[in-house]
Amino acid sequence: MNKTFKPKYELTVFNTLSRKKEKFEVLNPGYVGMYVCGPTVYNEVHLGNCRTFSSFDIMYRYLLYLGYKVRYVRNITDVGHLVGDVDAGDEGKIEKQARLEQLEPMEIVQKYTNLFHNVMQQMNTLPPSIEPTATGHLIEQIEMVKQILNNGYAYETNGSVYFDSQKLIKEGKDIYDYGAISGKKQDDLLTETRDDLKNQSEKKHPSDFAIWIKAGPRDIMKWPSPWSLGFPGWHLECSAMSTKYLGKHFDIHGGGMDLQFPHHENEVAQNVGACGCQPVKYWLHTNMLVLNGKKMSKSTGNSILPAELFSGNNNILSKAYSPMSVKFFMLQAHYASTLNITEKGLQAAEKGYLRLMEAYHVLVSLQHEGQENASGDDAQIHKMLDLAFEAMNDDFNTAAALAKLNVIIPKINALKNGRLQMDQIKASTLERMQAVFKDFIFEIFGLLDETKEAAQEDGSNLLDDAMQVIIELRQAARAQKDWATSDLIRDKLQAAGIQIKDGKDAATWSKS
Ligand code: AMP
Ligand code: ZN
Repeated sequence: MNKTFKPKYELTVFNTLSRKKEKFEVLNPGYVGMYVCGPTVYNEVHLGNCRTFSSFDIMYRYLLYLGYKVRYVRNITDVGHLVGDVDAGDEGKIEKQARLEQLEPMEIVQKYTNLFHNVMQQMNTLPPSIEPTATGHLIEQIEMVKQILNNGYAYETNGSVYFDSQKLIKEGKDIYDYGAISGKKQDDLLTETRDDLKNQSEKKHPSDFAIWIKAGPRDIMKWPSPWSLGFPGWHLECSAMSTKYLGKHFDIHGGGMDLQFPHHENEVAQNVGACGCQPVKYWLHTNMLVLNGKKMSKSTGNSILPAELFSGNNNILSKAYSPMSVKFFMLQAHYASTLNITEKGLQAAEKGYLRLMEAYHVLVSLQHEGQENASGDDAQIHKMLDLAFEAMNDDFNTAAALAKLNVIIPKINALKNGRLQMDQIKASTLERMQAVFKDFIFEIFGLLDETKEAAQEDGSNLLDDAMQVIIELRQAARAQKDWATSDLIRDKLQAAGIQIKDGKDAATWSKS
């Protein structure tokens, strides 16, 4: 890409490191390197995790829309992330789940990676450019430990290697002020360091953290290294893999706010220790999805899974909500604000999503008749479209962008029913509106069309109609106690991959 590359619009982003909105200026004109901490694949992702990954998907999509060539790296944590609970000892999350489910750790990894990918697909997020795994990058991680040791930023005790936080605090201060991302003072860092290891006595200082851990007798996932048969510390993978795929210094690093400390703080420490430089120009953090006033979290049981939400099969909500209603619900908040999930909020989002999609269908059906007596409405439409982009350029504010598009919806409906004459807007305005709505809905927000109109177009509700006829015929047979016919219909459908469920009042069907 040439040096004169200009994005479609100029962007500002809130950088956690400076705690300010900054002009987004890439390191290499035309290119963006973006790393996002991915899931630890030891159980199903909950809706909070999805919020974070959907938010970064929107950023990825918008950067692409602006014309950047983006390398988006999102890792899979499949080793090293320990159970934080002291009572549980220093067991790895994946190993613990493997014991529970009586599977190989790698079967757990595969199972929950597949489920994660399914959910990401249901939410219509784009796959990252590279999705590296921690276990696939042991060599790179061991190399990084060696570099950190060589530079004197780590020490070995009894087969484990620890990062020397005090050295960074004293000598690396000019490169990175340890605590800057999380905003923690050094004293807090000390008291809040939740060490993953039982053996505190191996460390010189309580805020030192393990970068290589000697395996204990119970550990299954372990690899040879110059120090011991063991495994990498959790933070190390992100330092090693971001450096490998994006270089020592890259544009964006993202993750949920709860990762600021210790994960991101320690990631930077490791990069400074290995390379002598700060890795990231812009740190972006998403805020938490909240349920019942508390952060959604699997370990506390305060969570809802995407599948439970999409099927309606849960104790929290009265009905099912489609993936796009849920996505719309998330778009209605800025990524850096907390978002409280409630039934009311989901209902409103479902309505809002349908309203937008219906307006889009009306909009594409509108035709200009050539006459132009452009009015205030014409000017207002342009203004709102401009403001929708301004909102996105202001730290990816999807909530404000949606609000601006919503102002235009009554005008679209008025054009359809004649309350607003077509000659009141210019032909070029109609064209722009059609193009911008299409771009926002599909390219930038990544919404899919779940409306009846779309289903009709691709024939998917034809099957629904046909199934209703079959179900009625079967009900008629049952009413006459013709069990042979009723069972025949059920069995033949089952063989064709369709499951009939007899309810109290009616029968339903699903693909089996
Ligand atoms: P984990 O698999 O626990 O490492 O989490 C994956 C991602 O989801 C991380 O970026 C977390 O910060 C993020 N995350 C976890 N809980 C929530 C929540 N309640 N709301 C939003 N993001 C979350
Ligand atoms: Zn990470």
